[in-house]
Amino acid sequence: METILVIVHTETDGSLAKPALEAIAAAKTLGSFSVGLIGADTQKAANQIAGCGAAKFLTVTGAEFAQPRYATDAAAAEAIAKAAAATIIIIPHTSRWGRVAAGVAARLAGRADTHVTGVTTSGITRWYYRQRMEAQMNRTQRPWLIALDPGCVAPLECPAGTAATTPVSVTAMSRTQVTGIKAPEASQQTIRPDAKLLFVAGAGWTKKQADGATHVPEAAEIILGFLNASKSSLGSSKSLVDISGEGGAVLPFMSHLNQVGQTGATPRHPKGLSTCCHGEEPHTVGWRFINERRAISLDPNCGWARGKADVLYVADAFAVMRKVNALLAK
Ligand SMILES: Cc1cc2nc3c(=O)[nH]c(=O)nc-3n(C[C@H](O)[C@H](O)[C@H](O)COP(=O)(O)OP(=O)(O)OC[C@H]3O[C@@H](n4cnc5c(N)ncnc54)[C@H](O)[C@@H]3O)c2cc1C
Repeated sequence: METILVIVHTETDGSLAKPALEAIAAAKTLGSFSVGLIGADTQKAANQIAGCGAAKFLTVTGAEFAQPRYATDAAAAEAIAKAAAATIIIIPHTSRWGRVAAGVAARLAGRADTHVTGVTTSGITRWYYRQRMEAQMNRTQRPWLIALDPGCVAPLECPAGTAATTPVSVTAMSRTQVTGIKAPEASQQTIRPDAKLLFVAGAGWTKKQADGATHVPEAAEIILGFLNASKSSLGSSKSLVDISGEGGAVLPFMSHLNQVGQTGATPRHPKGLSTCCHGEEPHTVGWRFINERRAISLDPNCGWARGKADVLYVADAFAVMRKVNALLAK
């Protein structure tokens, strides 16, 4: 009989974010479970999920646990796991939890598996070789720390209420102080994992067009115009993000973080629209989890035409996206 625990942290407003609710939903499918909450104020989060059916709400509360920091996060997770005597521990695989997963498993003499895409009573699923092979796995070692990738499970929906919590005391020391966060402005933040649409730009946007000239500033304006109007997430082909290294004309807001594909990211969005991209296998392998795929390319023989896209528009992406932006502006 497993003792199942899910550990999540609260946001700055005291609530639980979507990846936390997904991890709790996953734990709920396994049977009886408890929830560990870490944050400056954990009562608000406990109340938010009061009706989730958890046997216990174990909390580590304090201003020092608000900051995303290895020393305090790992100490808090370790203390909660020990207090619950957990054998299966589920955490969301956010960057914050990904940083402490291995350390917490080592402190508990357990094992950790990361980038897990599914959890059932008979084990976990995760992908290997850049999402080419799906493995079903189990382990005998306990405790087993399972870091669930965001976007794989529908988030928990349950009534709020007033939850009784069990505080767990931790003395966590750290020399690291988080003094602030430097992040691009929301309008420049082009990677949006929760967006309904992935918009991919390929190298074609920077190539010579029918008039024999390049139109990079116009390409940037069209792409940013679409992203700001549609709030979609921006992906790129490798060729486009590599151009900067070769001293070519580049889109200033594009970086290697945007790259989708074999050597890039494998994002999860319900829909994808590829533009000015050839749709070669090393790129389209990163589209594995995009459900509905459309592409705009001048080349009727491109990879998208060969079964990689549901719909291919053989057209000039400059003209199509200009028109789309005009329609969105209405
Ligand atoms: C080991 C390895 C790993 C790789 N990993 C990745 C990866 O992770 N991700 C990745 O993306 N690639 C990866 N690649 C590279 C990949 O094979 C392709 O070279 C790359 O995806 C091509 O990018 P592209 O389609 O943007 O550029 P191009 O091949 O230059 O294609 C540009 C396209 O734009 C079209 N076009 C031009 N102008 C217009 C217009 N006005 N309207 C519409 N269409 C237009 C052209 O017809 C053309 O089809 C990898 C390659 C290798 C060998």
